[in-house]
Amino acid sequence: MDIVVSVKQHPLPGETIHGSEPMYSPGGKGANQAVAAAKSGIKVKMAGAVGTDGHGRDLMASLDGYGVDTGSVAGKEGSSGLAFITVDEAGENCIILSPGANGKMYPEELEQVWPAIEGCSAVLLQNEIPLKTTLAAMKEAAKRGQRVYFNPAPAVELPENAYAAIHCLILNETEADTLLGGRLTAEEGDETAAEIRSARTLVEAGVQSVVLTLGAKGAIYADKSGEMIRVKAFAVEAVDTTAAGDTFIGAFAAMRESGETVENSLRFASAAAALTVTKSGAQQSIPVKEEVELFLE
Ligand code: ATP
Repeated sequence: MDIVVSVKQHPLPGETIHGSEPMYSPGGKGANQAVAAAKSGIKVKMAGAVGTDGHGRDLMASLDGYGVDTGSVAGKEGSSGLAFITVDEAGENCIILSPGANGKMYPEELEQVWPAIEGCSAVLLQNEIPLKTTLAAMKEAAKRGQRVYFNPAPAVELPENAYAAIHCLILNETEADTLLGGRLTAEEGDETAAEIRSARTLVEAGVQSVVLTLGAKGAIYADKSGEMIRVKAFAVEAVDTTAAGDTFIGAFAAMRESGETVENSLRFASAAAALTVTKSGAQQSIPVKEEVELFLE
């Protein structure tokens, strides 16, 4: 649950300031991406955990409302995952993540998840649960023949043997820097060349394909066959970029799993993300398939 308070300026250490009324907005990378995929027209099941606090109920209700199957979301004693967000007058935000129930999503939980997602063509993972659970889920999904889409956010370095299980790694530039240990983007030279090099190096690390998102600059796709596609972002008036990345990821995975080409999926995901930045909030700002198609006409 995102708890958002607007402030004039962010407080300094030791300082107390007044903020606006809080806004409670259902969020979380996994949940946002699940909503984006469902709004893009495919069947989505969410696995994860919420707390026994009131937020858990609200988070589940939001997912249910968007048609996401929450049958595999466990209830854990204590707090739900919370994000404490302050936004200053310049629109700059500071975020503190408190994992709550997400931090208690241990590998053992997966035993209940597999039967529930039997028959799903793909599994989409993020880094908001313990890394050991994510790594175990990736390996098992790949073994079961389910395509693994992975958004390594918040970013941590991955063990080298994790890459082989990943069908599609989708990440932004900061996350790519972390995975690559800051090696590439620190080099001198043309910015686009550096971005392409990052995408290629991640493919060489062992994944089938990479989508590197570049904010208002668009995205780059690279894969094992040597294919390289660059898409521009759509020019829109940005109101709030919250969930732009999550929208892109959920929409892209949904389009690919519906059998769309990489090009069409990138175009659809870019349009969906562009529409998201024109509205405030997270899940409520994500467009449905028909809105995206209308925008693309
Ligand atoms: P966030 O954390 O803000 O949700 P992110 O850092 O994970 O986002 P970005 O690379 O910033 O991901 O954005 C993902 C995609 O969203 C971009 O590839 C682009 O298609 C779209 N996008 C982001 N910002 C804009 C913008 N200002 N205008 C149009 N499209 C945008």
